[in-house]
Amino acid sequence: MADIPERHVRLASLPDAAIAKAAEEELQKNGIPAYTGSGFHRGRSDRELYVPESYEAEAREILTAFDIGERTDPNLICPRCSATRVKAQPPVAVIVTLAGVAAAVLIFLFAEPKWLGAILFAGAIIAAAVIERRVGNWKCLNCGAVWLTKRS
Ligand SMILES: [Zn+2]
Repeated sequence: MADIPERHVRLASLPDAAIAKAAEEELQKNGIPAYTGSGFHRGRSDRELYVPESYEAEAREILTAFDIGERTDPNLICPRCSATRVKAQPPVAVIVTLAGVAAAVLIFLFAEPKWLGAILFAGAIIAAAVIERRVGNWKCLNCGAVWLTKRS
């Protein structure tokens, strides 16, 4: 039988290289040929963890038990399903605020009535707060939950 090279899958993208290294060692201790994207695998991030496809399920289990959560930022763990596959949301609220404030300043300078600028300014701040709650600062790639940045 021909030896077909196995596909490798990206298991996780971790918050930093040290955590990725720790997770890699943990998996290797359990007999899984995991590797991070450094060294031989140039061009891949050293925060990303790879395994051959046939090890994926087992590796995920070990990684869950390994509990990356205790070593890292609580924002990088989904509060609903505890997945660590999360991504930062685009700064929608900041963009809305800036756009609203810019529009308010333009109205205040060049248009009448002036109070319209003040209303727009207040509206932009309120809209940004509402949008931020809906969009969140972080999103889980597993279950789709969103949350705001938690500060410890
Ligand atoms: Zn989730």
